[in-house]
Amino acid sequence: MRGHDLPGALDAFLSGHTDELIAFRRDLHAHPELGYHEHRTTRIIAARLAAAGLRAAVLPKGTGLLADIDGANGRAGGPVVALRADLDALPVPDEKNVPYRSTVRNACHACGHDVHTAILVGTGLFLARLAAAGELRGRVRLVFQPAEEIPGGRSACALGRLPQPATKSSSVWLGRVGIPHGRTSPQTSYMRWEKSSPSCRRRYPGG
Ligand SMILES: [Zn+2]
Repeated sequence: MRGHDLPGALDAFLSGHTDELIAFRRDLHAHPELGYHEHRTTRIIAARLAAAGLRAAVLPKGTGLLADIDGANGRAGGPVVALRADLDALPVPDEKNVPYRSTVRNACHACGHDVHTAILVGTGLFLARLAAAGELRGRVRLVFQPAEEIPGGRSACALGRLPQPATKSSSVWLGRVGIPHGRTSPQTSYMRWEKSSPSCRRRYPGG
């Protein structure tokens, strides 16, 4: 944003979209899908982006999607930044007792991917608004990655298509959102973890 009140614009956007984004996240939480089965998730993300004028491309295996937001010079070799969220749930029961508890037996967004996805959808909506107003430079690629919790998902997210990937992932720790620098990603089933720390969790390019 060039010389404008970005925090103010973001506040204004959030004041009009917070309830919708909370409902979007809770809907995802109530309908978790495991890796490479995120068909409903993919469908509702694509529909919401389309309503904001963004066209998403579903990845070859049928789940996960990419959507580019082009600002000024976005198509002319300008900077590209990828923002990534993961879509899949974990094969565990949801033990919470809340209205949006998982409706799927032994599937739960226990890793926060519902939150990641809602954040990226909201970010995409906001950036689309900036782009439409001529306030965005370069290109932002939204990467909705399938199957992050199982091997193989990383290749599907097509990050390699970026000439010099500058990828940001979001993580949620105890109610906080972190934006780590550089590559990060959580679980693979085969990672051996021996380090101990009161505040760390597994983090490495995953899937
Ligand atoms: Zn995860």
